[in-house]
Amino acid sequence: MQNELLSLIPEYLPFGMFVYDKEGFMTYANNNALEMFGITVDDMNGLNIFEDPNITPEEKAQLKRGLNISFETDYDFDRCRKEFAKGSIIEERKYFITKVTIMHDATGILEGFLLTCEDITEKKAQEQKVIDSYQKIKTTQKELSLALNAGHLTSWNYKIDTGMFYKVGDQLEVCEEWPFDVIYARIHPDDKGRFLSLFDALNYKHGLLDNNIVLRVLDPAQTDYRYYNFIYSVYGNDKDTITEITFIQHDINDDIEYQQNLILAKNKAEEADKLKSTFLATMSHEIRTPLNAIVGFSQLLAETEEATEKSEYKQLIETNSEILLKLIDDILDLSKIEAGSIDIHRQKIDLSQVCQELYQSFKPRMKNPNVTLRFINPYEKCTANLDVHRFIQVFTNFITNAIKYTAKGEIVMGYECAPGRVKIYVKDSGIGIPDDKKRKIFSRFEKLDNFAQGTGLGLSICKAIADATDGKIGFESQANKGSEFWYIGYTDVEFIEHARSSEVDMSTDIATEELAILSTNIQDLKILVAEDNDDNFLLIQNILKKNLLTRAVTGVEAVEKAKGQRFDAIFMDIKMPIMNGLEATALIRKYDKATPIIAITANAFHSDEEAALAAGCNYFMTKPIKKRELIELLSKLWIIVQQ
Ligand code: ADP
Repeated sequence: MQNELLSLIPEYLPFGMFVYDKEGFMTYANNNALEMFGITVDDMNGLNIFEDPNITPEEKAQLKRGLNISFETDYDFDRCRKEFAKGSIIEERKYFITKVTIMHDATGILEGFLLTCEDITEKKAQEQKVIDSYQKIKTTQKELSLALNAGHLTSWNYKIDTGMFYKVGDQLEVCEEWPFDVIYARIHPDDKGRFLSLFDALNYKHGLLDNNIVLRVLDPAQTDYRYYNFIYSVYGNDKDTITEITFIQHDINDDIEYQQNLILAKNKAEEADKLKSTFLATMSHEIRTPLNAIVGFSQLLAETEEATEKSEYKQLIETNSEILLKLIDDILDLSKIEAGSIDIHRQKIDLSQVCQELYQSFKPRMKNPNVTLRFINPYEKCTANLDVHRFIQVFTNFITNAIKYTAKGEIVMGYECAPGRVKIYVKDSGIGIPDDKKRKIFSRFEKLDNFAQGTGLGLSICKAIADATDGKIGFESQANKGSEFWYIGYTDVEFIEHARSSEVDMSTDIATEELAILSTNIQDLKILVAEDNDDNFLLIQNILKKNLLTRAVTGVEAVEKAKGQRFDAIFMDIKMPIMNGLEATALIRKYDKATPIIAITANAFHSDEEAALAAGCNYFMTKPIKKRELIELLSKLWIIVQQ
């Protein structure tokens, strides 16, 4: 009974068990073993352990040497069917852990072999699954890291509990840690608000969806902000708890720059198109105006017999032909510039002489009586190596513009020399150039005032000449105050100082005689001088020695005296006791609209001039009073009085 029970035990073992006799023939297999190998008891017949192809020759040799063996097999049932247990019905692959123990009797004589085997196919499959998954994770990590690198992307993780940003490295490991405040400090001031709202939404767990945000961030290596696009995704334990947020950082600075350049190029193209249209309209106007005059006055010239009319028409035809020629010259110059072929022919010229001649040629063209042209010629002789034609072209442009844009005051032209360079300049007290228009001045077809005569080409041609001569061109200007345009040419220069002084206003010599003549002309003008300051009155008295002057020291006195007798002109100081010059002028204008009133003030602001003109003054002069200005003004009045 006990033996029977014992013989049943192998049947209930959880592994397969085979018993082989000392020759190696199979004598017993438990049910588990038969099932594992897909054989029946009958199939066991004649099976010898030493013929099992799944036990290697080395293992078999070990057995023969009396050593126990243990091994793991990926059991090949196909081979087994061909060479060993032909009846096996197992088709699928199976893994076994096999142990073969050598059995001896009590005296140590070999009795047989006990083979136990455990089917680990299921376990192997699980293991393989784990290996596969691990491999998959590894591959994904590698791919992700490659993708991040290829796309110049950086991955960040922000954890709400630590308040830290974690930068993810090449191997997807945390490679840097940054506190929130440090990251926040690097955000561009204009983007900080949006950055904070994102984290507010995160903290209050509302309205935060996976999305993206573009921020400018300061790179520690650079001093500049760069544009980055951050794609973010939030994570949490459940839908109401957000614990972390992942950012994929993409450097889009080049894209943004590219976009901005495209927009700039587009705007430039549009601007150029607009300029082209404006240019065509301007050209049409600029060509037609002198052409009309030439055609019209040519006809009239043919029809008239009157000598004065003839000469007047001839003059007009000449002036308009000059304008037309200048325009054509400019256009030709422009086409040369476009073709990049400005010819520069340097030669030795005497600046002192060339500028003097230029000044003389412009003097008669000063048609506006409120503007004087002055020339500062610092040297008796000054030779420099310059292209005289281009030099005159630049200077002429500056002077013509100054005349065009100066309604009153003074235009000063001159030159200066230093070893290796000469500078020419034209200073005016004209309308000036507002700051926001300054950068356009040397651009082609740019006119700040579309109603002014000109094509907007002059200065761009001057700039091209400056470039072609390796010189420099520039200007300083203040709106409503005036401008100074200059050109510097680099050249060998030799100069001889004037005998008397190093810087002489040559125009003074010429003008002294002129002034003497003018002073005589105006000596009959009766003038009321409203001036409270004795020195200032004395100055006027000295300039106008020959004139009959009546003085008033307050505004009230000026009004009374102007009422009492007739004057040819009234000088009105604006700042006077009891009643100022503006109030006095307004009162005088109530009954006398004709007498010219000249406002005199130390304030040179445009608003002061406007206030004086609004009160009824006809002219405006600033202190200190200049002899030339005063006499020239009175000469104009004298001409009017004569008519
Ligand atoms: P234009 O032939 O129309 O005068 P320029 O190229 O010589 O053309 O000058 C361009 C623009 O610069 C002018 O239309 C004018 O608005 C401005 N400008 C030039 N010179 C002066 C100046 N001395 N004072 C004020 N504005 C000036």
